[in-house]
Amino acid sequence: MPKVAFDVLDALNTPVWVILPQAGRICFANTSARKLVPNMELQAMRDGIFSAHAHSSLLSYTPEMLTREQIVEIWTVSREGKPAPLSCRLSAIASAEEEYAIVAEGILGAPLSGVCLLPDEGSFAGASAETRFYEMLFRTNTAPMLLIDPEQNGRILDANEAATRFYGYSRETFCTKHTWDINALGKDILPVMREVAKLPGGHKPLSFAHILADGSQRDVQTYAGPVELDGRRLMLCVVHDITEQKRLESELERAALRDPLTGLWNRRHLLLLLEQARQQKQLCGIDYSILLVDADHFKRINDEYGHFIGDEVLQQLASTFENRVRAADAVCRWGGEEFVILLPHTDETHAVFLAEFLRQTVEQLRHPELPPLTVSIGVAQHLDDESTESLIMRVDRALYTAKARGRNAVVAAQDCG
Ligand code: GH3
Ligand code: MG
Ligand code: MG
Repeated sequence: MPKVAFDVLDALNTPVWVILPQAGRICFANTSARKLVPNMELQAMRDGIFSAHAHSSLLSYTPEMLTREQIVEIWTVSREGKPAPLSCRLSAIASAEEEYAIVAEGILGAPLSGVCLLPDEGSFAGASAETRFYEMLFRTNTAPMLLIDPEQNGRILDANEAATRFYGYSRETFCTKHTWDINALGKDILPVMREVAKLPGGHKPLSFAHILADGSQRDVQTYAGPVELDGRRLMLCVVHDITEQKRLESELERAALRDPLTGLWNRRHLLLLLEQARQQKQLCGIDYSILLVDADHFKRINDEYGHFIGDEVLQQLASTFENRVRAADAVCRWGGEEFVILLPHTDETHAVFLAEFLRQTVEQLRHPELPPLTVSIGVAQHLDDESTESLIMRVDRALYTAKARGRNAVVAAQDCG
């Protein structure tokens, strides 16, 4: 590959090497690279004491190179006679697989902005080994990372490249911000952060909502731990975007707890809620009641108008109940055209009152193409020490009585023996 083609790279202040991966050698080094490391071989730089890479052969990066994934290696270079780490970003030039060359661009140790952790810009010489290590970790990690000062109310001192890409802020803008600027909790995050900073070994991942530069919100997990950099106790925070994972989790949760047709709680979840209500009553004596609602002659709707219309009517019933009950009440599709409504903090008298209101509401619903729809409702208050099965049996009997009394009726369990 002719050297002359790369002369333009001399204009850059950053060190750049052009490598032929097949031959495993450098075919061009720009002025900055030659000045930085006059006589080093590629292998010596890639395999030195500070070096780290994903693949020992550069050719193994070919698939990532061709799909333009970010590849970073840490090389060992010589600075003032001493070995020093240098992060390099690798990318492919020329598209044909057999012919491509790799451009390795050294990421010079720009000081971690704001605090100037590295005293001599562009040089690692003055910084402690620990600071150099964090610098390296920071610059090369593909996970978003923030360096935070808990002493300054969570001021962000630095953000790595992955963080600038994820949040959409430039590094300079980041360094004018505090953690509470990017956290949906706002300043409420400060006490949490102070606690975390006190822990000797950092903390387990915490979940937060973070706000990006474009105003959108992402669910993140943050792994933060204290780091001591040149005498300052700071926090290094690694950010993991879990938005998609959370979305899938809530979809799965929904599928497990909700009825797909109506979106109401399903029977399994209601049984859990009933059990919780029973235990709460045992502990605190809080009364609760349930309604068992059954659509009258629903089979006729299916028979005369078809199953799809039947489904729509069930959805309409579901939203009617949901919109009429209190926020603490739980509406469940018990099965078919039957619904159970759990009413916490409610005795039978009040439950009958609500049931009557629901019955009348359904009676007044008008669907121009359908016959009037009515419901029958059984009502039962949980009796002391009664099992959930017994409560359900009693409410079922009350419903049966309501049907027997001619439907479109409400019957309380205590009125049917
Ligand atoms: P009753 O007044 O005695 O309750 O009469 P009914 O016709 O409502 O009762 P029955 O138990 O005989 O029939 C219930 C009907 O509900 C039968 C079934 O086709 C219908 N059904 C159950 N689940 C669904 C569903 O998911 N969608 C539709 N469209 N219909 C359903
Ligand atoms: Mg039924
Ligand atoms: Mg029915």
